[in-house]
Amino acid sequence: MRDPRYDILFEPVAIGPLTAKNRFYQVPHCNGGGYRDPSAAAAMRGIKAQGGWGVIFTEQTEMHHTSEITPYIELRLWDDKDIPSLRKMSDKMKEHGALAGIQLAYSGINGPNLYTKEVPLAPTALPIRTFTNDPVQARALDKQDIRDLRRWFVNAAKRSKRAGFDLVCLYGAHGFGIFQHFLSRATNQRSDEYGGSLENRARFVNEVVSDIKDAVGDTMGITLRVSLDETIGALGFSNAEMRDFVEMNRDLPDLWDLAHGTWEDCSGPSRFKDEAAQHDLVKGIHDLTDKPIVGVGRFTSPDVMVKQIKSGTLDFIGCARPSIADPFLPKKIEQGRIEDIRECIGCNICVTGDMTMSISRCTQNPTFMEEWRKGWHPEIMNAKGDSSNVLVVGAGPAGLEAARALSERGYDVAIAEAGTELGGRVARESKLPGLSAWGRVKDYREYQISQKPNVETYFDSRLTAAEILEFGFENICLATGAAWRRDGVARQHVVPMAIDAATPLFTPDDLMDGKLPQGNVVIYDDDHYYMGGVLAELLRANGCDVTIITPSAYVSDWTNNTLEQASIHKKLAEMGVRIVLNRGVTEIAKGYVTSNCVYTDALEQYACDVVVMVTSKLENNTLFTELAARQDEWADAGIKSVKLIGDANAPGPIAWATYAGHRYARELDGEEIGDALPFRREIAELAAD
Ligand code: ADP
Ligand code: SF4
Repeated sequence: MRDPRYDILFEPVAIGPLTAKNRFYQVPHCNGGGYRDPSAAAAMRGIKAQGGWGVIFTEQTEMHHTSEITPYIELRLWDDKDIPSLRKMSDKMKEHGALAGIQLAYSGINGPNLYTKEVPLAPTALPIRTFTNDPVQARALDKQDIRDLRRWFVNAAKRSKRAGFDLVCLYGAHGFGIFQHFLSRATNQRSDEYGGSLENRARFVNEVVSDIKDAVGDTMGITLRVSLDETIGALGFSNAEMRDFVEMNRDLPDLWDLAHGTWEDCSGPSRFKDEAAQHDLVKGIHDLTDKPIVGVGRFTSPDVMVKQIKSGTLDFIGCARPSIADPFLPKKIEQGRIEDIRECIGCNICVTGDMTMSISRCTQNPTFMEEWRKGWHPEIMNAKGDSSNVLVVGAGPAGLEAARALSERGYDVAIAEAGTELGGRVARESKLPGLSAWGRVKDYREYQISQKPNVETYFDSRLTAAEILEFGFENICLATGAAWRRDGVARQHVVPMAIDAATPLFTPDDLMDGKLPQGNVVIYDDDHYYMGGVLAELLRANGCDVTIITPSAYVSDWTNNTLEQASIHKKLAEMGVRIVLNRGVTEIAKGYVTSNCVYTDALEQYACDVVVMVTSKLENNTLFTELAARQDEWADAGIKSVKLIGDANAPGPIAWATYAGHRYARELDGEEIGDALPFRREIAELAAD
């Protein structure tokens, strides 16, 4: 059972008129599903309730139609019609005794209103500040608007109560919520009683909290989420001013929810932010208030959590990503199963579901957002099917997750791995600069498998089709991975490009094998995710002159979706990496590459000794092709199925591989569904006319 050192994490704590059963607090987080996928989002929160969280919040909820953040998909509480789907979520949250919270957002200067076509309202008339630089400006709220807005907040709080929520969180952090826009001198340049002094800038939040307390405060807790530091210097809502604000308003909300600066600051990836990274910004705030404090910091270690409580820094352990990677984190600590915690790796793939308006995934937890769509539970697999054993070839993230999940179902599993360690690409990539936390993908699965009597692992086993046909396994799962291409094929070049054979050319695989070039290196990045930037960092740290050339307008372009692109550019620039944007590479010659402008095709040469190709990958699927060619021998060999999964099937990010492995394990021996849709979805009901 539970280690007594962690007892403190399970103490009940009051929030206004209510009491949370423990200190585990799932702070609001997006999921890419929101109002479009209400049942999927509700079921995801319900799993957290099962997992033992004391407080569970929604994602941000647009509380009035005059402020919305299309194209991003969150929740809506525009009128009574939104109540049923929100009630579905609050019901799920409360099933196991958690407090259900709703985050009310009025986006002000952050809401372009592309859908409602309403004129955005903000403390001061300024251009809308979003990820997408929308060409829209906000009008300044006049006094009547402020009175209206106060009433809209009260209406939203009343509707939240009717929708079954216990807690209301007023969003004033990350630059996303209007309370911050009022508090910050940067976004509040008013000369009336709502602007100027800190007292004046704090007037609006005081009025709204007081209004809501009058309306629902007898039964609901009111929390305020504010930024710890706007990170734009003295003009913004700095950490020092934030402390003044808390001190001046020490008992304003029932709980202070403290979150760092922008979303990029607050949800920084492990490449740039460690666990408990916000500690110094939060430290000491407790002395300024009598109300409890929740803070975040990608907490996955119960020892770090205990330290946060015992040092008087936090009262609640706020988690978004750690609760996504392991919704059962509190339960596992409670049951003394620390080793079973599936620790978040800080890759921010979950964030990409929101940024791409798709639906979120998690690298560590492939069941995230599939709880309702596919009926997948993060801790419980479906029952075993008719066959009894599986040979998994390849121990990368796809093979390891397949083996882990298959063993949970009760299959006998043999893993054959060509190399001498588990983890495949994850083991290799986690040795690159900043990516060590990614090794947790392997660590979690390696430990789980080691606890299973029905999994055998064979190293140094590069299998051939002939061997597989001799072994007599019923099911063959080929997770043999992929290798980086050398021929330049990716997006700019769909067929191999001109390469002088005399030019030393490296791929990411070569570098990960320890073959490190010297001298003047050009990295040609037509992959656009993290690898090009990470290798630039590696080579620069190794003393090379590094130029990274990419046809995109951003270095490591896709990392805009993981909230780290700006940090990557800054780091590379500060290290002295030359960043060449909007240019491709048309020819690799001895001593130079020729680069074209993607707009004008104007050519330029860049001298180099060595070229590193970060382009695309080739599937290692020959084993599958050979087995497929010998299908008429399968029955005699006792083989019922052969399936290719993960990077060997189609290369992608690591999350795609763990998903593929999990899906394989779920679906083995399953019913053939033919052309039917492999997941559930919801479609808006048509109006009568
Ligand atoms: P994924 O991301 O799809 O899991 P990886 O490239 O990470 O793919 O892992 C693939 C693993 O498969 C590597 O560890 C590799 O050594 C192993 N592998 C490739 N071909 C064979 C083979 N024929 N027999 C056994 N293992 C193989
Ligand atoms: Fe953590 Fe990555 Fe999962 Fe997000 S996707 S919860 S960052 S492991």
